[in-house]
Amino acid sequence: MHKFIFGLPKAELNVHLVGAASADTVLTLTRRHPSAGVPTDETELRKFYEFTDFDHFVDVYVKVNSLVQTGEDVSSLVDGLAEDLAFNNVRYAEVTVSAVSHIDAGVAPDELKEALQTSRRKALAVHGVHLAWIFDIPGLRTPGEEQATLDFALRQRPEGTVAFGLAGQEAGRDRESYRWAFDIARDAGLHCVPHAGEMTGPATIWAALRALRAERIGHGISAIADPPLLKHLADNAIPLEVCPTSNLRTNVVRTPREHPLPALLDAGIVVTLNTDDPGMFHTDLNSEYLFCHQEFGLGRSELADLARNSVTASFAPDALKTQLLTEISAHTKQGSP
Ligand SMILES: [Zn+2]
Repeated sequence: MHKFIFGLPKAELNVHLVGAASADTVLTLTRRHPSAGVPTDETELRKFYEFTDFDHFVDVYVKVNSLVQTGEDVSSLVDGLAEDLAFNNVRYAEVTVSAVSHIDAGVAPDELKEALQTSRRKALAVHGVHLAWIFDIPGLRTPGEEQATLDFALRQRPEGTVAFGLAGQEAGRDRESYRWAFDIARDAGLHCVPHAGEMTGPATIWAALRALRAERIGHGISAIADPPLLKHLADNAIPLEVCPTSNLRTNVVRTPREHPLPALLDAGIVVTLNTDDPGMFHTDLNSEYLFCHQEFGLGRSELADLARNSVTASFAPDALKTQLLTEISAHTKQGSP
């Protein structure tokens, strides 16, 4: 099964540029910027990445983000991510970039654009990995984060920009309050992919669908508690970007057996499998597929279906989607009984 999973061509739709940084990449950055309060030693860094809950995770995330101060730092993140994606045979990824957080930490907007474009071309040339960008409102409630995110996504609009997102703590901030920003992004031709229902209930997902007209939902796992919502998601083929290890690391799900992924599949939901913040959560996409095999008993054809879902739910060009689906089918037929 390891061999099957490693060789399976994949796409990834919920992976954050900063949270994806491997220990090696973060250590490179901490040595460049030792005063940012992030450990410069690998063992200490691992301890630093043990989260008690989602709030603690956000605190750590903000500290690591403060290491990204120049275009060179951004390039280090993208280069490292591309290498890790290639190792997992991820052929296409929509990477969430919190542009406003990088700009606040000192990266000039045109420098950020240039670093993303150059590293994206390099990812394809060196690793055969196609990258696309989602610019998200980080949801840290800093004043003006919505407008600043829109300004970057729409004015700079680096090559590969596909969507507009929303992350961060869900409680206490109505999705409705972001409606205006999503309306502007959609009118400018971006897809809308907010996170919702990760650490709050189904009402947040309904709000993301109604107010933000979400085309996919980041996480969305609390939909499991709302049968009419499940039916709506299934009937309209609105995909969920499910990230099992992330949910366990931030303690929004307590044990693997309690994870709703199998029940979401049973409800007919288009489930895609993702890592979210693989560097911070000590995971990668191969491990997520393996986890689904080991914990939920998914076999080859079900894992191949998950891989197909990520391709069809993506905003990749049609020709690339067709190519990846063909490769997944070819891989699934190889050596099957
Ligand atoms: Zn996410």
